[in-house]
Amino acid sequence: DGVLLSSLPRPCRLMLFVNPQSGKGQALSLYDNHIRRMFNEAGVIHTLIITERQNHARERVRDAELSQWDALVIMSGDGLLHEVINGLLERPDWEEAIRTPLGILPSGSGNALAASVHYYSGVPQVTSEELLVSCGFLLCKGLVSHMDLVSLHLSSGDRLFSFLSLAWGFVADVDVESEKYRHAGAARFTVGTLVRLASLRIYKGKLAYLPASWGRSKDNALQKGAAAFCRNPPSCLEPSSSAKQPSEDSCPNTCHSNNSLKLRRTEGKSPQSATKDLPGPPDTLLPPLDQPLPSDWVLVPEEDFVLMLAMYQSHLAEDLLAAPDARLDDGVIHLFYVTAGISRNALLRLFLAMEKGTHLQTNCQHLVHVKVQALRLEPGTGKGIITVDGEVVEYGAIQAEVHGGLGRLISG
Ligand code: ADP
Ligand code: MG
Repeated sequence: DGVLLSSLPRPCRLMLFVNPQSGKGQALSLYDNHIRRMFNEAGVIHTLIITERQNHARERVRDAELSQWDALVIMSGDGLLHEVINGLLERPDWEEAIRTPLGILPSGSGNALAASVHYYSGVPQVTSEELLVSCGFLLCKGLVSHMDLVSLHLSSGDRLFSFLSLAWGFVADVDVESEKYRHAGAARFTVGTLVRLASLRIYKGKLAYLPASWGRSKDNALQKGAAAFCRNPPSCLEPSSSAKQPSEDSCPNTCHSNNSLKLRRTEGKSPQSATKDLPGPPDTLLPPLDQPLPSDWVLVPEEDFVLMLAMYQSHLAEDLLAAPDARLDDGVIHLFYVTAGISRNALLRLFLAMEKGTHLQTNCQHLVHVKVQALRLEPGTGKGIITVDGEVVEYGAIQAEVHGGLGRLISG
């Protein structure tokens, strides 16, 4: 899937960043045992850079003479690719820089993009070293596709880019708390989920989104899928003027949006852009974070959540298929949220079903899935955790806009 752009030249020259601390700390021996010979035999010339600290790769990429390289590849978890993408988009020549093909070799504890790429290639799910070898082969094939990237605004005024996920509530807490189980490799998320379930809590906040428009999506089937999600359209298509909260039993899924409150219209002309002076592509859908949202946005009526998860690729972890119909460059954010009131058992069932990607068929009244172009989250006061691509960012209001196909990934 994804529109194939080109293939890498032969021989090709890669800059390969290896994070020796990633995952169980075995990335260098994994490189020696699986990757080095494979690359040599395939005519993939690579310069190895062993990352020494956080932001090392980001700085190297920001200053690199990019014309020397056919691709930039990372061997780590998702965190290192997050650095590389942000390094590219911080450059004055970001528009050209972000066209550099990127590649990923999974040796981390969170290898969600590698699992997604493997899934898109249509072969059965594998994990750990088998996933690494499979991604090695895809890199050697060298087929390059577009990849969606998402621009994020934080309340400090900072902007960053994300290629995988934005999480708040249960998933973000598990991401961070499970750091201490990283010796378990990818199993850290399973352990972390069970621990968090025992102390399940509610997160207060406001969530709003701009639905993906029918005309703009590249994939019509995908949009039909979204419509089909609304299980009892006749009742929930009727806007309820008196009741602010739709009754949950009448409206189990995506159709929540239909009777949600529309947001205030911004007075006057189109909203002032939030990014006019920042490097990277301008965001055309987002007003500044402290300004009201345009009228075509949808405000989620509930304010008590168990989790909010925005995914732009299929996998949340090697064995968690969170967004089965996501594609590398479908141009949409797959927004999921779970409202308060779900039982521990039901939440556990959702995560177990997610291993096969069948959680959307479990008929859970508290799970909502909607495809969006942009979203804004305003968490209630107090402390909390928000993660972007599995990395912690400052806690507070945050908004996101998808840039369809902005990046390039070697995906086979
Ligand atoms: P994992 O999935 O194992 O967490 P990541 O790729 O997400 O792997 O890496 C986690 C973090 O490690 C990244 O934010 C990266 O900046 C940082 N990092 C890179 N090199 C080193 C190093 N040599 N020592 C410590 N941290 C590093
Ligand atoms: Mg990580």
